[in-house]
Amino acid sequence: MYFHLILTDDCNLCCSYCRAKAFENLEVSEGERAVQIDESLPNEMAYDPEILYRFLESDPSPTLTFYGGEPLLRTDLVERIVREAPVKRFMIQTNGLLLDRLPPDILGRFVTILVSLDGRKALTDANRGNGVYDRVMENIRIIRARGYTGELIARMTVTEKTDIVEAVHHLASNADYSFSSIHWQIDANFAGDFSLRRFRKWADDCYNPGIRMLVDDWVDHMETEGSVLRWYPFLDPMEDLLYERESRLRCGSGYANYTIMTDGNIGPCPVMIGMSQYYVGHISRSHPLELDHVIIRGECTDCGIRTFCGGRCLYSNITQPWGVAERGLVCGTIESLRHALIAALPRVRRLIDEGTIVPGDFAHEKFNGCEIIP
Ligand code: SF4
Ligand code: SF4
Repeated sequence: MYFHLILTDDCNLCCSYCRAKAFENLEVSEGERAVQIDESLPNEMAYDPEILYRFLESDPSPTLTFYGGEPLLRTDLVERIVREAPVKRFMIQTNGLLLDRLPPDILGRFVTILVSLDGRKALTDANRGNGVYDRVMENIRIIRARGYTGELIARMTVTEKTDIVEAVHHLASNADYSFSSIHWQIDANFAGDFSLRRFRKWADDCYNPGIRMLVDDWVDHMETEGSVLRWYPFLDPMEDLLYERESRLRCGSGYANYTIMTDGNIGPCPVMIGMSQYYVGHISRSHPLELDHVIIRGECTDCGIRTFCGGRCLYSNITQPWGVAERGLVCGTIESLRHALIAALPRVRRLIDEGTIVPGDFAHEKFNGCEIIP
């Protein structure tokens, strides 16, 4: 089972699409109003780690992903848990500003490190703060120099300011960065901000055509280089298309991937902090393999591309900050992605038949913090 572990709610950044939204006067949907938030949730992990270890011991193969806030604000806890917990696979989602605090022996225990970054320096700094890009890049250089050889995923949040083709090419083309993989998620239907956005025009004119171009680039690379670039929004769905597999919610939240809150309660997703109606247990009394499932409902239930999309996001599915028509625009981006991948499928199959690539080139760690469907 996969678990996100919330170490702290504090963060050392206030990114425009994340914490900064708390200062905007946004609309509140019916779904958001219906959510009860446990306001008594502690800011920092507030239970004895031994309780966590006993819980994890009952899982034969747990994977633990440190999450926040910014988890490296509690480097002390990261080090302690990595050294003590009965866990073989660790991952972390971080803004990268404090990555240089991790010593080599701890770094070496991470199979995956996800670092938030939005493409080029100008856009990253505009979204995340002046100087962030350079500092993160320096830290990436430092951890590689310290011998970190695991997967390093550049994780972008994309908005109307993003030229997706340019951003992906930028992260993929500069060998100095040493990112093994790229993932992105669209900032859409996560807050009541649609009226402040120009989402429709961007999706039609920039994002959807950009995805079609990127899928072509991705397959061109397979053909010329004989390898599969680890661009997660393409990698995971294409592997399923090759094997003709149907997918549930691709991030795994609520059935394969759960989140341990700072008080030890267990919820379905790392964004559903304090959403106590959806808690499925507590580390002091639950068995990790017997947690209830929280499933996608509503319009996704009857959607014709549900087995491709999986429902995109459980949090959005519950809170529905955007209206029906606006959500349809987000679904349009998913349909567009699906079309582009299906159109590329015969070419990918041909490259496999010819031996240019092999199906195993699409293998990857599931539920590693990538939402997959942007
Ligand atoms: S495309 Fe839209 S409606 Fe269909 S499963 Fe995905 S999120 Fe749900
Ligand atoms: S995609 Fe949605 S449900 Fe999945 S981890 Fe992200 S916020 Fe949670």
